Amino acid sequence: MVSNLQARDAATVLHPYSNLATLPSQGSLILERGEGVFVYDVDGKPYIEGMAGLWCNGLGHGREELVEAAAEQMRRLPFAHLFTGKSHDPAIALAEKLKELAPMKAAKVFFCNSGSEANDTQVKLVWYVNNALGRPQKKKIISRIKAYHGVTVASASLTGLPNNHIDFDLPLPQVRHAGCPHHYRFAAPGETEEDFATRLAAELDALIEAEGPETVAAFIAEPIMGAGGVIVPPATYFEKIQPVLEKHDVMLIADEVICGFGRLGEWFGSTALGMKPDTVSVAKQLSSSYLPIAGVIIPDWIDEALTSQSAKIGTFGHGYTYSGHPVAAAVALKTLEIYEREDILGHVRRITPHFQARLKALGEHPLIGEARGMGLIGAVEIVADKASKRLFDPKTGMGTKIVGLAQEEGLIVRAIGDGIAVCPPMVITEAEIDALFDRLGRALDRAEEWAT
Ligand code: PLP
Repeated sequence: MVSNLQARDAATVLHPYSNLATLPSQGSLILERGEGVFVYDVDGKPYIEGMAGLWCNGLGHGREELVEAAAEQMRRLPFAHLFTGKSHDPAIALAEKLKELAPMKAAKVFFCNSGSEANDTQVKLVWYVNNALGRPQKKKIISRIKAYHGVTVASASLTGLPNNHIDFDLPLPQVRHAGCPHHYRFAAPGETEEDFATRLAAELDALIEAEGPETVAAFIAEPIMGAGGVIVPPATYFEKIQPVLEKHDVMLIADEVICGFGRLGEWFGSTALGMKPDTVSVAKQLSSSYLPIAGVIIPDWIDEALTSQSAKIGTFGHGYTYSGHPVAAAVALKTLEIYEREDILGHVRRITPHFQARLKALGEHPLIGEARGMGLIGAVEIVADKASKRLFDPKTGMGTKIVGLAQEEGLIVRAIGDGIAVCPPMVITEAEIDALFDRLGRALDRAEEWAT
C-alpha cells in the first residue's frame, strides 16, 4: 500500500532514472531530513546514505556553516550574473581557488550548474576552439563504453550506456566509444591488468587511425567510471592511453564530476590515477551539493583561442543564466574551505583502507563476482554463478531487490550496471563504515535466500 504522499508523488513528479511503470505501485522513498551520514524518511526511519545522494554530498547533512554562507550571500546579493562584462566576488574567488587546486596549469574557469552542462560545454569548446585554430575537420570526441558524462544532448552522447541513447536518437554523429577498461569483464582469459591496458591503448590507437587523426579532437574519461559500474581502470591504463592521445594531438578531458574534491583522497582523481588532462569538468562535491554548481577548468591555449575568436566575432556566445550563481559560488567556496580546514582529504586517506577492506570482504559472498573500488567509492558485481561470471537474468530484478532489502536494513545504495554501488559521504567514520557494510551484507544474505 502506498501512502497518500507517495500517491501524490507518483501522480505529479516525473522521476529521473526510475521505472515509470512500476513506481506508482511501489512508491518512492520520501526523505524529510538529514544529519551527518544519515537521512530520515517521512516516518522518521533513519538510513545510512551509502551513496552520498548521487555521489555528491561529501560533507553529509547538517553543515550549518554552509547554510550560513548561503544565507549571508542571499542577504547581500542573491543574484548577479557573469554575462556582458558583469561579475561578482564569489565567482572570482571560486575561480581563483579552482585554478590553484586544478590538476593541470589552469587559466580560467567557466561556471555551469550541473555535470551535464559542464560536459556539454566541453564539447562546444572543443568544436569552437578547433574552428578558431583553423582545423574545422578535427571535431570527433572519443568516450568509452560504460562511461557516464550526463544527459544533455552532447553529454548523453558521450555517455556510453544504452539507456541514455535508446529512443533519444543519440549519440551525436561526432561521438565514438572506445573499449571499457573493466578487467573483470573484458580482459581475455589469463590477460594481466597491464596486458589488458596495453591492448586497450592499441585499440584506441587503431580507432583514431581508422577515423583519421585529423578528425579526432578529444578523449574524455572519468578517472574512475562511476555510474557505469565504479570501474577502476587496470594498472598502467592512463600511462598507456596518454601517449596515444599525444601522438595524434588529441586532448584529454577529465570528467572529475564524481572523483573531484577528495573522493580518492586527492583533490582530483586525475592525480590519483596519473592522468594529465588538458581540461577538467567539476560539479557535485564542489559544493557538497548543498547547491547546484559546476565548472569547466581550461588551460591557457584554450583561453587564448577563445579570446582571439572574441576579437573576431565580438563575443563568446555561450553561458547560462546561473553560471557562477553567487549563492552557489559562496557555498562552494565555504565547502572547499571546510575540506581544507578539516583535512577531509586526509580523513579519506586514513579511512580508505578500512572501507576497502570491508568492501573487498564482500567479494566472498556467493552472490558477488567482484568487489572493486578505490578511495571512498566501490561496487560489488552481482553474479548468478561466480565461476562463469554469469549474470542474473535482468527480469529477476536482483539489483532492485538488493537495493530494497538494503533499504529495509536502513541503508541507501544504488543498483548500477550489474552491481551495487557504495559511495558514502567523505566524513563517514570507521564505525559508520562497519554499520554500512553490516547492513549491506545482511541485504545480500536475504537476497541469496530469496533467489534460492
Ligand atoms: N559526469 C559524471 C562522472 C557523473 O557521475 C555525472 C552524474 O552523475 C555527470 C557527469 C552529470 O552530472 P549532472 O547529473 O549534474 O548533470
